[in-house]
Amino acid sequence: MRAMVFDRVGRPLRLEQRPLPIPGPGEVLLRVLACGICRTDLHLIDGDVEVEHAPRILGHQIVGVIDGTERRVGVPWVGWTCGTCEQCLGGHENLCPNARFTGCDIDGGMAEYTVADERFCFPMPAGYPAAQAAPLLCAGLIGFRSLRFCGDAHRIGLYGFGAAAHILIQVATWQGREVYAFTRPGDSIAQEFARSLSATWAGPSDAMPPVPLDAAIIFAPDGGLVPLALRALKPGGRVVCGGIHMSDIPSIPYQNLWDERSIQSVANLTREDGHEFLELAPQVPVTTHVTSYRLEQANEALADLRAGRFSGAGVLVP
Ligand SMILES: [Zn+2]
Ligand SMILES: [Zn+2]
Repeated sequence: MRAMVFDRVGRPLRLEQRPLPIPGPGEVLLRVLACGICRTDLHLIDGDVEVEHAPRILGHQIVGVIDGTERRVGVPWVGWTCGTCEQCLGGHENLCPNARFTGCDIDGGMAEYTVADERFCFPMPAGYPAAQAAPLLCAGLIGFRSLRFCGDAHRIGLYGFGAAAHILIQVATWQGREVYAFTRPGDSIAQEFARSLSATWAGPSDAMPPVPLDAAIIFAPDGGLVPLALRALKPGGRVVCGGIHMSDIPSIPYQNLWDERSIQSVANLTREDGHEFLELAPQVPVTTHVTSYRLEQANEALADLRAGRFSGAGVLVP
């Protein structure tokens, strides 16, 4: 099979011919139909998040068919948890210290085939073509988990209007919330995209929203956004950091955190998040805006993601 392989930090992914992977006990062999790309893939390539055992096939938003069946499933970032640690037993498998992550600790979906632990495969909602379904698996799920931490916030700011935000805005507005979209200053295309998805307001990340916000979610990996988002909040408001990595957060006057404002990070996901979100998505219904690339174009797709050259989500199709 063809696979795009990560060798080491700073190097582009390399096309390789590999034998088909052989599923172990409890695993299934999947023929990959589509695999979404994600900001996390850039963090792995840049060395912000470590890949311990390279060479490694990246990709953690996999839609595939279980070999020998018609069953279409999705494989997310969390590929395995131990099930026996305090976190797993307490319902927080997303925090399992022994967890293995797809496309990082386990070979992922930037290939024609992959294997996955069947317990961590989600049934995928019918009605979504594979490429449109793939971004639900990380962009969709992480956004959904981030929204949980906003509680019943009515006015929500989204900092960074990429794959996650373009899905989450559809869920949030369907729930009757108002969304305020913050983009890179000067990115009028992203601001227009946000308005087309029913944002109440869209503007640059260094601007203040027209009204104070109840909560803000930061998807962009820029720690400099934390003080800006805090400043935009009402007393009691919360800033939720949705990414796996962020540059350092600049120091802030305590006054900006005062009045019971808080900062919260979101780590990974639980299978419960996955089942809940994948049942919800077709009810909204969430529509994903996707730019598709061939598997061999993975480096080009990742460069486009880094440069913000497409709106919505990027997907590789083998
Ligand atoms: Zn991801
Ligand atoms: Zn565990």
